[in-house]
Amino acid sequence: MVDRPLTLMAVHAHPDDEATGTGGVLARYAAEGVRTVLVTCTDGRCGDGPGGVKPGEPGHDPEAVAAMRRQELEASCEVLKVTHLELLEYADSGMMGWASNDAPGSFWRTPVEEGAARLAELMRQYRPDVVVTYDENGFYGHPDHIQAHRITMAALELVEEPASKVYWTTAPRSAMQRFGEVMREFGGDREEPDPAEAAEMPDMSEIGLPDEEISTWVDTTAFGGRKFDALAAHASQGENIFFLKMGKERFTELMGMETFVRVKDTTGTAVPENDLFAGLR
Ligand SMILES: [Zn+2]
Repeated sequence: MVDRPLTLMAVHAHPDDEATGTGGVLARYAAEGVRTVLVTCTDGRCGDGPGGVKPGEPGHDPEAVAAMRRQELEASCEVLKVTHLELLEYADSGMMGWASNDAPGSFWRTPVEEGAARLAELMRQYRPDVVVTYDENGFYGHPDHIQAHRITMAALELVEEPASKVYWTTAPRSAMQRFGEVMREFGGDREEPDPAEAAEMPDMSEIGLPDEEISTWVDTTAFGGRKFDALAAHASQGENIFFLKMGKERFTELMGMETFVRVKDTTGTAVPENDLFAGLR
């Protein structure tokens, strides 16, 4: 129905979010001949350093972490066959309340209009038919995820020919209980959890949506292995090691269905739907 390649644009906050949240759809749609554009807003400098050293600890060098995470991101994109990777290169703002929230160049303190104008340029260049980002809470409250949401929604208002369909990533509440069980099973060999880290853990009961509010269920189990390998490319990050401990099969069972809320649609396709491109091809 369109005279150019169908295009999916995913807007993410950090290197590795593309794998966890949308690795399945990126891999699946690339395999179906869709052009896939990943926009990663920050450099991930507040992530773990080599050997698991946390930000603020001695030996954590934000510049070196950003360089390492960029290589990991490129490796992940190769696994997922992402056609175009675009980096906005804002500084990772860290978790809500950290001093890095207000550091020079941080994504969180960047005016929304500024980030939106840059993203709008990319939308004009690629003309995505489908855009995916986070909900207004950034899925679990991370400032960079919230900011990625804000600039995406603002950019869509700026462009002359915005995407036909816009989605926010989500997770079904029905999966959250299973997720919690698996977390306990595979987190069981950890020593006493660090209270600071525990405080950062999102409250599972507030994440995601009741199943009936989810408009779009995309089965990506055939690409579970790819999604796992993409996440494995980001193995420097502690929270990803938890997923990798599951092994491919359990991981695919738990993470193979990717779910979204459709917030804009010009195709009139009925929901629930099982394809981000329903009505476009
Ligand atoms: Zn993130």
